[in-house]
Amino acid sequence: MVLYTPGRTSRYDPSPVESGIRLHFLGGGQEVGNVGCVLEDKTGTRILIDYGLAPTRPPKYPAEAPIVDNAIITHSHIDHIGMAPWLVGSHGTTLHGSDLTAKLSSIMWADTYKVSSIEGYPLAWDRRDMDAALDAWQPHQMGEKFVLGSWEASLHVAGHIPGAAMVEIDTPEMKILWSGDLDTRISPNVMGAKPVKCDVLCLEGTYGGRNHPNRPEEEKRFVESIKQTVARGGVALVPAFASGRGQDILRILHDSAPELEVHYDGMGTRITLDWLEHPHLIRNPDKLRKTWRWCRRVRSKSDRKKALDADVIVTTSGMLDGGPAIWYINRLRHDPANAIFLTGYQAEGSGGRRLLDEGRLPIWGNITPVELDVEQFSLSNHAGHDELVEFARGCSPRHLVIFHADKESADALAAELGGEMTIHIPENGTQITLE
Ligand SMILES: [Zn+2]
Repeated sequence: MVLYTPGRTSRYDPSPVESGIRLHFLGGGQEVGNVGCVLEDKTGTRILIDYGLAPTRPPKYPAEAPIVDNAIITHSHIDHIGMAPWLVGSHGTTLHGSDLTAKLSSIMWADTYKVSSIEGYPLAWDRRDMDAALDAWQPHQMGEKFVLGSWEASLHVAGHIPGAAMVEIDTPEMKILWSGDLDTRISPNVMGAKPVKCDVLCLEGTYGGRNHPNRPEEEKRFVESIKQTVARGGVALVPAFASGRGQDILRILHDSAPELEVHYDGMGTRITLDWLEHPHLIRNPDKLRKTWRWCRRVRSKSDRKKALDADVIVTTSGMLDGGPAIWYINRLRHDPANAIFLTGYQAEGSGGRRLLDEGRLPIWGNITPVELDVEQFSLSNHAGHDELVEFARGCSPRHLVIFHADKESADALAAELGGEMTIHIPENGTQITLE
């Protein structure tokens, strides 16, 4: 189980590396999320990139990390950051990341801690570890060089969400680029990622083999459907992730339908305040500020009741696994003029998936029929297949390591890029050495 015995339950093989770079995936190999990867070379420099958990029920955890002095956290999503307090509490590791990622970690860890207590799931770290982790950050600006043992590293904009970083690492032998979660397309709140020439590219492949619909057209379709619901006297409920999607939805609605009354509820409201303090990482921060003032933030129970008369409610959780969205659905489900707009992928076993497949959903523990119109839109913050391929070509690496992808997605990318670079699709718990 997750309750590791530091140093005794790690399966990491610490034997010296002879040459090149050695990668060992603790999680995120042939799976989406749950990421953690140890990198080491012959200089004895050893770092960890990301240490997350998969927020499934129960959560899934990566294998125990060996001792590392430094870890780089690419972004604040829980499947990349969730286990970092354990690392700091057990090994005193220094955490590196963008200043916004460091700032958001406090909200993300506190929420993980709260959810695990409520749901009764074991967590390998406690409040003391969380406090230690908050003090363990060494934040960096994009492009700033910093030293890790015998290596030099720097962060680059990864798209995806504000503050999300790709990691460029120069070892004495080679240049490595770690993509983190990546989007090369411009989205409402962030610019897209740009390729960096490297020898080894470690690329997330969530959408390998699948392409997104044209983003502006999908946004238009979304706004039109919202307007139709409002025109028939209904409320449009938009469940959206707290960190990224929710703020994108607000920007889209503010741009295209500012006449609507839009209420914003859930953890995203606190996250947005942190975003606003880091305008250097936001695309067009003035517009975000205007959007923030325009939407009505739900702060209390009475605000929540008032929101039931809104045109649109944007709230968590994005996959209807809890959060205020459930409270709203329970109230809104009696009037067929109302509608639910899902804004992305709904994982197997999630409330949103159940709503799509069966027209019902667990509400306060009871499986409840919800006879409202439910529509799904594809407003993802990950690059699609074609963007991933173009990005990989732009980096022109000798080696391409595909992770954060199920096997089918990774194989689709391998099939397209195999003639141009050597492809690796490592499994968790195995070591690969690239030269
Ligand atoms: Zn992410």
